[in-house]
Amino acid sequence: MKKRIWMAVPVVAMMAVLCLTGIYQSRQHAFAQISFNDMMAAAERGEIDEAVIGKNGRVRLYFEDGKRAEAPNPNHDEFVLSLLKLDVNVTEKGTRATVGEGLIFSLILLGVFLGWRQKSPGLIRPEKGSVQTAVPDLRFCDVAANQEAVDCMRELVHFLKEPERFVKYGARLPRGIMLYGPPGTGKTLLAKALAGEAGTSFFSVNGSDFVQVYVGVGASRVRDIFRKARKAGGGVIFIDEIDAIGKRRDSGNDEREQTLNALLTEMSGFSPADGIVVLAATNRLDTLDEALLRAGRFDRHIEVGLPDQAERLKILEVHARNKPMAEDVCLVHLAAETTAFSGAQLESLLNEAAITAAQRGEGHILQKDVEAAYLKVLVGSEKSRAGEDPYGEKKITAYHEAGHALLMHLLLPGQKVTRLSILPSTRGAAGYTLSLPEETLFQTRKQLMHTMITLMGGRAAEKTVFGEDMMTTGAAGDIRRTRAIARRMAEEWEMGVSGDVQRDAKALFDEAGQRAEDMLKANRNALDELAQALMLQETMDGKTFLQIMEKTCPDTINA
Ligand code: ADP
Ligand code: MG
Ligand code: ZN
Repeated sequence: MKKRIWMAVPVVAMMAVLCLTGIYQSRQHAFAQISFNDMMAAAERGEIDEAVIGKNGRVRLYFEDGKRAEAPNPNHDEFVLSLLKLDVNVTEKGTRATVGEGLIFSLILLGVFLGWRQKSPGLIRPEKGSVQTAVPDLRFCDVAANQEAVDCMRELVHFLKEPERFVKYGARLPRGIMLYGPPGTGKTLLAKALAGEAGTSFFSVNGSDFVQVYVGVGASRVRDIFRKARKAGGGVIFIDEIDAIGKRRDSGNDEREQTLNALLTEMSGFSPADGIVVLAATNRLDTLDEALLRAGRFDRHIEVGLPDQAERLKILEVHARNKPMAEDVCLVHLAAETTAFSGAQLESLLNEAAITAAQRGEGHILQKDVEAAYLKVLVGSEKSRAGEDPYGEKKITAYHEAGHALLMHLLLPGQKVTRLSILPSTRGAAGYTLSLPEETLFQTRKQLMHTMITLMGGRAAEKTVFGEDMMTTGAAGDIRRTRAIARRMAEEWEMGVSGDVQRDAKALFDEAGQRAEDMLKANRNALDELAQALMLQETMDGKTFLQIMEKTCPDTINA
């Protein structure tokens, strides 16, 4: 018997809802009636938060301060556009509301009626750029690895806390910082940690939020976020996936162009006293419009790369902090087994393991949970081969990079090997940097040849160590650059012997390849040691590199 009474409760509640909604909707006087011109004036002053365009020829306006009003609807397409341009959220109603939506809408209205915060119902509010403003509760200690990026952020903490002090000393700080690197490497995390550490607001938007159907909306959203940050007395503005607006201007996309221009204007417009730091994230730096990367804009570029073995251990430790790991789980071992995993994948691995363990409920995360999670993350990842190495790629890459580095050391005293890596990076596979020394007044034939030999060092190592069959396509970029130099030597600088440009270029190119092979064969011991160390550590700094060189080929140092 009791049960039946309870079953009636939802029905009664439902009726109450519909009833109250009806009452609510009939209470027209809750909306002050204003003229079209008053509405547009208020929109221009930025007072209107949302406009709901109804079927009844009226527009309902929700003001920032909680007031409500109704104005006539001119029923013209341009009208919606002009509201959007003025930063008003526009919802067109009545044309496609289904029964479900209607019911939900009624419930929301009931909520409003009962005095809920009018702004909360996300269902009738199109999310505008999803700007978040709370102070994040993340700190630098939540970021493992990425030390270079963290150090850079550290400098900014003081600035965010006390911009006035920096203004007083006339110090100029980086305006915009571009974080670039593969997905899941901690770019968002870094930006949040900066705001968290400084205790300032975090304004986060996604580049794709700016790309709208209506021309001009993106631009106004850019201005909006800067205005909000200024109003909040400063903070961190984070533009994720900036590629969406910042791609090179090729396609003549008006909307993107306008948005980008608005961003550039805002970036050059704010002063240090505003206490605003703008961070942006992208997977690829080279696809961005150069205007974005120029001085005074995003002029500080920080690579946020995949973690190497030591860094993976640190990341695993951060995420194991709050988890009951059994004693048989060895994070060192796990770090060694997860080559090319991103921080996000490592986090998700431990999380999966925790879920499995929690379901079993024995109190600890066991090694077998970790193993199961490892497979799950591998299968679920984009590059499902992360962590596996069926073709011995790691070894080939190690030799390839070691080949470049060794020859650079032997042949180009003006250049230093500062960092070596065999982890995939977004700038291509190259794990070393060879900057062609353009600063010198001129280059000799010998210098040019040495540069070419160094460029061919990767391919030469593949060939020498693994044989012709194992040459890889990874050397394509090196070969292109070498060929370009050979061509200019033959054509522009008359450095060939035969006078036939084609033939001279080919001869120079072949010479470089041959000499690279010869030198690597002569220094095979050094090459092996370097490659071994690289396979083990995945990355190497300049100091370690020099130590290996001193040990393995002390006499050949060309200083
Ligand atoms: P991105 O923005 O580069 O795509 P995220 O910052 O969104 O990457 O990373 C997703 C999650 O992965 C983070 O919230 C964090 O849990 C984990 N993570 C990524 N990198 C690190 C790191 N360096 N240290 C600790 N955790 C990390
Ligand atoms: Mg991110
Ligand atoms: Zn190479």
